[in-house]
Amino acid sequence: VSQLPAGEYLRHGQTPFFRLPQADLHSPSPYAGAGAVLLGIPYDGGTTHQPGARHAPAAIRRVSGLVHSYHPVHQVDVFRKLTAVDGGNVSLPPFDATLVRTVIQREVAQVLEAGATPFVVGGDQTVALPCLRAVAARHGPLAVVHVDAHFDTSGPEVWGDAYHHGTPLRHALTEDLIERGQLWQVGLRASWGQPEEGAFAAGYGSRQVGMEALERRSVPELLAAIRLGVGERPLYVTFDIDAVDPAFAPGTGTPVPGGLTSREALQFLRGLKGLRLVGMDVVEVCPVLDHADITSHLAAALLYEGLALRALCA
Ligand code: MN
Repeated sequence: VSQLPAGEYLRHGQTPFFRLPQADLHSPSPYAGAGAVLLGIPYDGGTTHQPGARHAPAAIRRVSGLVHSYHPVHQVDVFRKLTAVDGGNVSLPPFDATLVRTVIQREVAQVLEAGATPFVVGGDQTVALPCLRAVAARHGPLAVVHVDAHFDTSGPEVWGDAYHHGTPLRHALTEDLIERGQLWQVGLRASWGQPEEGAFAAGYGSRQVGMEALERRSVPELLAAIRLGVGERPLYVTFDIDAVDPAFAPGTGTPVPGGLTSREALQFLRGLKGLRLVGMDVVEVCPVLDHADITSHLAAALLYEGLALRALCA
């Protein structure tokens, strides 16, 4: 069974991500045979403003039951082409943030060892760092598309802590998880804490595409540059939902006006077709701040686009 019938949602109330089969978590190799594993990470201990992203896996699971398998634009039957399973949530200790990162990295590594592609549903963006560590350990330095309103390259100077949801890309760069010149940051627009804020990632050759630049340059033009620049490299996508305008994604803890429309966000992911996606996360959805599940529906649609990209290469 690639995907349970749509009526299962009505019958059971809550179904796994996209009505997919669930991994047998009691098995010694729960992800064996899977091409993709969806993992929820109910963690928001790295949040600097409004918490609540820990509830995102449950909310996104619920609304993802509405998503069917066939992608009419790519003309691919996603869940028939790609064996995808719901790997459940990563069970995390409540207080020790270092241990949290270790546990996440270990779980994502287990997905990769099974030969599957991880699709991670945060949680706040601190979860991206252990994911990137695991994926880079398997594939080597990565090309990373980071869709976000913020750079996420802060140091400890702001909050007195080197690790929070505004820092994962800084660590990923300093730890050489990202190939030099292969960090593509899209959707940037937040105000800066200091005039040098953009310089850190730029020092590693990152390509920074702010909303200001997108006013002058269309999404297809941007995609052409990314596809050419990334080429055959293993690509990881970390998608902070706050890249999308709060009008389309109000359920997030650090909203910034003036972002991507939901259409542009979907168009953007679709346009990565042909690239070698080796992992993806969608983070910072905060259901308690959402209205009518708008943000959760978008997150599910973004994940589906990622799964479709993976299915095209399956
Ligand atoms: Mn972020």
